[in-house]
Amino acid sequence: MCVRVRVRPLIFVPVSFMIIMKLSTGANDVAARLNSSGFFRTQGLIGGKWVDAYAGKTIEVNNPATGEVIANVACMGTRETNDAISSAYDAFKSWSKFTAAERSKCLRKWYDLIMANKEQLGELITLEQGKPLKEAIGEVSYGASFLEFSAEEAKRVYGDIIPSPLADRRLFVLKQPVGVVGAITPWNFPLAMITRKVGPALAAGCTVVIKPSEFTPLTALAAAELAHQAGVPPGVVNVVMGNAPEIGDALLASTQVRKITFTGSTAVGKKLMAGAAGTVKKVSLELGGNAPCIIFDDADIEVAIKGTLGSKFRNSGQTCVCANRILVQDGIYDKFASALADAVKNLKVGDGFSEGVVQGPLINEAAVQKVETLLQDAVSKGAKVLLGGKRHDLGFTFYEPTIISDINNEMRISREEVFGPVATLLRFKTEDEAISIANDTNAGLAAYFFSSNVQRTWRVAEALEYGIVGVNEGLVSTEVAPFGGVKQSGLGREGSKYGMDEFLEMKYVCMGNMS
Ligand code: NAP
Repeated sequence: MCVRVRVRPLIFVPVSFMIIMKLSTGANDVAARLNSSGFFRTQGLIGGKWVDAYAGKTIEVNNPATGEVIANVACMGTRETNDAISSAYDAFKSWSKFTAAERSKCLRKWYDLIMANKEQLGELITLEQGKPLKEAIGEVSYGASFLEFSAEEAKRVYGDIIPSPLADRRLFVLKQPVGVVGAITPWNFPLAMITRKVGPALAAGCTVVIKPSEFTPLTALAAAELAHQAGVPPGVVNVVMGNAPEIGDALLASTQVRKITFTGSTAVGKKLMAGAAGTVKKVSLELGGNAPCIIFDDADIEVAIKGTLGSKFRNSGQTCVCANRILVQDGIYDKFASALADAVKNLKVGDGFSEGVVQGPLINEAAVQKVETLLQDAVSKGAKVLLGGKRHDLGFTFYEPTIISDINNEMRISREEVFGPVATLLRFKTEDEAISIANDTNAGLAAYFFSSNVQRTWRVAEALEYGIVGVNEGLVSTEVAPFGGVKQSGLGREGSKYGMDEFLEMKYVCMGNMS
């Protein structure tokens, strides 16, 4: 929201290719490479042109591992958003008429370019988001997979022919692109949350106005530059960033925007859903989770530890599908807690560019304070700290990988997303009790459980009120499967063949007098 706005000086310095910083040695090398990469951008993209904010405002992008300024990017608002919408609207007229094969080729080329620049894009993600480089490069491949998949799906947008009840009529269903899409994305997956929306949108024939998070705009801008290099026509992909409420309101108010696709917090998602009512837009929402991870007595403990670690500590606990409550059955509780502590002790914390680091910093000071507040609340209500429980010696936004026990479902830490590296253990006795605790939340995104019993596997998978269930597995996201939540975790699905439907309208055509 331009809270860190600086007005650009009158002597204009083009900052598009300038990383402004005094960084650690590793990060400095990265900065030098990125400066010459050809996709390091700091302006917004409107109608195929890279533009500054009209009032010249900029906002700092910081390295979360050090707080140092990486770049100043354009801080945009209503006027730039309205122009981006107009460009997308104009571009829609031609892009929607491209053949599926033509759109597919553009997407495939975009995928190829992202994969060809995988390492450097990974470095950019680590620089502005903080996750360890290996994980960041993994996100690039994951993010790119949505473009590849969408390139393939573009050719499979089939309609239907309906057997007519009347002899002289022919009935059929066409699938057509929704129109201009406003895509608002969070900071925790700066690339993948964009490609998961923009891939299917473009494949369907829609055009987009992307609004990335103020914390991680550089990856979004780099992706847009690569889209341009891939031959995606001007106006098909636009990027504006800066004043989030202004940009959001402009997208919501416009009758030219026919769809809002949002990934982020439940609070903002609800505002957008309410705001979209004014122009009755299609809405899809990927919101916060509160994932239970249930370890039954009959679980294979090694599998359960590996799965729990993967789910809980990926991205330092900053994912919507992170295990937020670890429910452990009485008979295996002590063994599991001690094995988990042994594993978590070995998680190396540090700057994402350092060798062997698997836990980077949290995104900012507010995120650390949230973790501290939730932990204090839990401890004041009887939770016990088994490991960690404080800021890391590295200082700044680093937090020790933590395990706390004796959690109950009334504590704030069980009801809100922790979004940090804190594993919370809750003891239960029966399967029914575990399911009841697991479902006792307004969220319904991902759930996990570990069991070797086939009957229980079916029972529990069916009983969990979640959009995604991992059984004996902690990492379940893939471009080929539908991702999304129930209850207040969202509406609609992303990825897979179902993800395309979010960007398509159905048109029923009735041809009469055919006899
Ligand atoms: P957030 O604060 O809701 O922000 C998400 C996006 O919305 C950002 O681009 C933000 O802009 C923008 N925004 C904020 N206020 C807005 C407004 N009034 N109008 C329009 N846009 C607005 O969420 P976050 O902290 O970035 O991300 C973390 C959340 O995302 C967590 O709750 C997590 O669970 C959820 N998430 C869900 C999924 C999923 O697939 N279900 C995936 C990843 C993350 P600025 O950043 O510029 O303020």
